[in-house]
Amino acid sequence: MMRLPKFEYRTPPTIAEAVKIMADVGPVGQFVAGGTDLYPNMKRRQQMPKTVISVMRLDELHRIIGDGSHGLHIGASVTLTDICENEIINRDYPVVAQAARTISTPLLRNMGTIGGNLLLDTRCNYYNQNYEWRKGINFCLKKDGDICWVAIGSSKCWAVQSSDLVPVMVAIGAKLKFASTLGERVVDAAGLYNDDGIDYLRKRPDELLVSIELPTTNGWRASYQKLRRRGAFDFPVLGVAAFIKQENGSVDAAKIILGGIAPSPVEIKEAGSLLIGKPLDEDQIQAAAEAAYVKARPLDNTDFVYQWRKQMARQYTLRALRELL
Ligand SMILES: Cc1cc2nc3c(=O)[nH]c(=O)nc-3n(C[C@H](O)[C@H](O)[C@H](O)COP(=O)(O)OP(=O)(O)OC[C@H]3O[C@@H](n4cnc5c(N)ncnc54)[C@H](O)[C@@H]3O)c2cc1C
Ligand code: SF4
Repeated sequence: MMRLPKFEYRTPPTIAEAVKIMADVGPVGQFVAGGTDLYPNMKRRQQMPKTVISVMRLDELHRIIGDGSHGLHIGASVTLTDICENEIINRDYPVVAQAARTISTPLLRNMGTIGGNLLLDTRCNYYNQNYEWRKGINFCLKKDGDICWVAIGSSKCWAVQSSDLVPVMVAIGAKLKFASTLGERVVDAAGLYNDDGIDYLRKRPDELLVSIELPTTNGWRASYQKLRRRGAFDFPVLGVAAFIKQENGSVDAAKIILGGIAPSPVEIKEAGSLLIGKPLDEDQIQAAAEAAYVKARPLDNTDFVYQWRKQMARQYTLRALRELL
């Protein structure tokens, strides 16, 4: 049985206290929400905070306020189950509920939060193993070692962004609000993710994710398709989020975002451009799906053969766009 290392556990009741504790303890501190990602990582000695600061008692982080006409504010500690069941999210932002429903299992969705999901650690077959396994291969760049087993000779880690909600939030243009002792800042979801498996977030460790702000639903629609081995439990090894906005029968704006294939979500700009200025029809969808296939470069560090995952980028883009017909 894998045991957690010893750590101090803090449960501040306000955001001000949470960020103050983090500022006081410095780099040995880490926030935790549902703990479904952090605690397994601690058991495998991949993340080793000495002070763990829970964000689950912060009332503001549990609120869902607004709707599609005004924009929706979702607190970072809202659980995935609440996202799946929320009436307004299902009515006005069905793609968010749809993607959340594909995450892991009902039990993990009861514990896991939207904030934890958007800040998930990157994953790799050579990293998501217990300590003894990793020691057996002399570790790797991401933790304790000096070699990348996926790309020997690479000075960069290629561990994969594996959240189902990240591609969706990037596609629909969500914004994320952070707080620290230095104040607040709001960033576009698209700007948060860095193409590096170790340094995968463009945020400081002391910044607390407060909320996710969804844009008004002014005529856009979006869909999400996920590739995984089993119908539950498994992380995405390819996720396709498709976004389109139509006006007078033709596509005004379009985005295709691929998740699960690189350290950050990947926008296939060519696919979006091919859709703009024309009605959405089967020919345009086929062309966009081909562009996604050409540009997708999955890595050989997750489940399934990577060449097949590349082929699936075409199929899953087809499916995501056909849902929007
Ligand atoms: C078996 C299994 C299967 C899974 N399958 C999937 C899957 O299919 N798809 C998927 O997307 N995920 C999956 N997950 C991952 C995880 O369960 C979910 O992503 C979940 O939403 C994480 O949320 P959490 O609240 O538990 O995060 P935590 O573990 O609490 O935190 C995750 C990270 O976010 C940070 N963090 C959390 N909240 C905040 C905050 N407010 N401010 C700053 N930092 C914060 C933590 O420090 C940590 O680094 C799976 C996990 C397991 C164990
Ligand atoms: S991509 Fe390379 S460095 Fe990163 S976790 Fe995998 S083996 Fe380690």
